[in-house]
Amino acid sequence: MNFNLPRETLIRLSGILSEPRRSSSPAPAPAPAVLAFEATLLAEGVCTLTAMCDHLAQTEKRGSSAIEELVEDLIIVFDIRAQGIYPRPEYLGDEVEGEKGLAAVDAVGFLIQLEAIGLEVDPSRLVDSLIAQIVDRKLLTSIEFDILLYKHTQGKRRIRFSADPVQLDGLHAQRTHKDSIGNRFSVCSRGDLPYSLEISGPKYREPKPQEAVTCALCGMLYVTNHPGDARRHKATHDRVVRRLNPKPSARLQKRVVTGIAGELVGPDAPLWMHGEVYERAAAFRREFGYDFIQWPGGSTTRAPSDWRGHLITGPGGEIAGACAFMHTTARKAEGEWSLQWIWIAPKFRRLGLLEARWADFLQRYGDFDLEKPLSEAMVTFLWKHGSEAQRASLPVF
Ligand SMILES: [Zn+2]
Repeated sequence: MNFNLPRETLIRLSGILSEPRRSSSPAPAPAPAVLAFEATLLAEGVCTLTAMCDHLAQTEKRGSSAIEELVEDLIIVFDIRAQGIYPRPEYLGDEVEGEKGLAAVDAVGFLIQLEAIGLEVDPSRLVDSLIAQIVDRKLLTSIEFDILLYKHTQGKRRIRFSADPVQLDGLHAQRTHKDSIGNRFSVCSRGDLPYSLEISGPKYREPKPQEAVTCALCGMLYVTNHPGDARRHKATHDRVVRRLNPKPSARLQKRVVTGIAGELVGPDAPLWMHGEVYERAAAFRREFGYDFIQWPGGSTTRAPSDWRGHLITGPGGEIAGACAFMHTTARKAEGEWSLQWIWIAPKFRRLGLLEARWADFLQRYGDFDLEKPLSEAMVTFLWKHGSEAQRASLPVF
């Protein structure tokens, strides 16, 4: 993150940060005055800038507590909203005098920023209290977001301040140092005038390069070194692997102990079977490049009664594939069943799994139609095993 800072403020801030820390712990035992400030801030929901300056002077003593004089500049730089704070008037209409201050959320957001640039402040207790207040909220302001992510980002940030640009002459120099808790500082100057200050937290790591790649196995396009994309890719990838390389399914094995009728996924079948058919419908769509997933059910809803699915059990009791029939009146007024799609994982193809079920399908659905177009493998299969009417519907070469 980059911020612009008045040169004088940058010089003074660099001065504070170049002194050894007074405490070698990022979260030292709090002094009573610190606890009192925190309790008042939480109770009132606001603090005056005077109170904030006094608080910082208590915790950041380097440079004779010079931080007090930088507070107003830093509030502006970090885009924290200072607003009027007023004592409650005894009578409405009484004149009261206010002063500049911060709402509690803004004050804590400010302390988080100050800690991130290496100053001796510890916002952790205030963060804990405020998180408890926003824990149920679905929408957050940017500062509330910083508070929510405090533990996640603490010590991992890099912040760079640049002074207002002016023409600088003289030799270029860079000074670096590390403080007792691992913050690293780098000050660049020309002719003894600093023009930038960079602070890297103890756990800061250079971001790894990101590039868009397509996974050869699951086909997902994702960005490397991106935590959100890594999570989304893993979910998709694992799903595809489960379909291509299924493990034996105890639930399916239990259903087929009395024969392949147990593979039927009708309106009475358990939801998980509807979900597994959906997974194969998705695999079929992916492999053959169709627009829609042709299974109107899933793991939370059963497909309606004009649809029938079948899971296909592999030799080891795996879910090797699935197919789906739909009842349609598109061609015949009295209606007929039509095989919409069939998908078997590549490693289970040519094992005779479909052949072993074809007679059952013909018995169950009559001389059913097949949704076109058909794959080459399916055409070859039908020439061998299809009914007369099914063969008659095939393209003639
Ligand atoms: Zn993948």
